[in-house]
Amino acid sequence: MPLNVVKFDETFETQMYIINGNILYIAFQDYGYLQDVITRASEYHENKHFMGKYFTYNEFKAHYLGFVKTNGLSLNASDNFTFGRDWSGFNLSGRKMEMFWQTFDDIDNGRELSQDEQWLKSTIVKFIDTVVAGGKMRNSNDWYLICTDGNCLPETCDAEIEMEAVGGLLAHELRHAFYYLDQNYNNVVYENWNKLSDTERDCITQAVDNMGGYNINNTDLVIDEAQAYGYINNFS
Ligand SMILES: [Zn+2]
Repeated sequence: MPLNVVKFDETFETQMYIINGNILYIAFQDYGYLQDVITRASEYHENKHFMGKYFTYNEFKAHYLGFVKTNGLSLNASDNFTFGRDWSGFNLSGRKMEMFWQTFDDIDNGRELSQDEQWLKSTIVKFIDTVVAGGKMRNSNDWYLICTDGNCLPETCDAEIEMEAVGGLLAHELRHAFYYLDQNYNNVVYENWNKLSDTERDCITQAVDNMGGYNINNTDLVIDEAQAYGYINNFS
């Protein structure tokens, strides 16, 4: 499957690209900056403990360090907060980013984004302006954000490249984006899932569970992860 990759912008810490016209991909040089930028937006949607609630960065940090210790995860060998390196790839739909801003960027209730979260918001606003100027985007359901620790693209990037040419981490996050943005692909995945026997589904659910940290009671999430890991999708 060919991808159209266009360089969007860069800073000292990041390289930014637009993929297929509606996916903003930000490659971070350093996991420390990545986690400062993305942790609260991501965990507002994904963490069982914080989902749908307002929380501070320090509250999450304290919780996560405890979680890592209690679960004996090998992710984190020290007491340092290395969330960005532990998970290294993050994906959020435009809709999820908007929901995050509604709750966390709310001055009337004494809540504001950190400087790093504010940077992400301005970058996304610029991305939307760029893409809307190209006439491709109508609302928050039409775009997607991917962030990774390190750059998963080959050095020459202003080009059409194949999925096989991008790093596995980015390929995984891109499948999440296609699953969300491309209704045809979404339908194919559901059809594949529905064709499976109960035993096969249990087996896949177990495989997703073994990856760690996913809420496997949420079937939609299991299907989304299963296709992103390549268990039930039709393309590489
Ligand atoms: Zn995933």
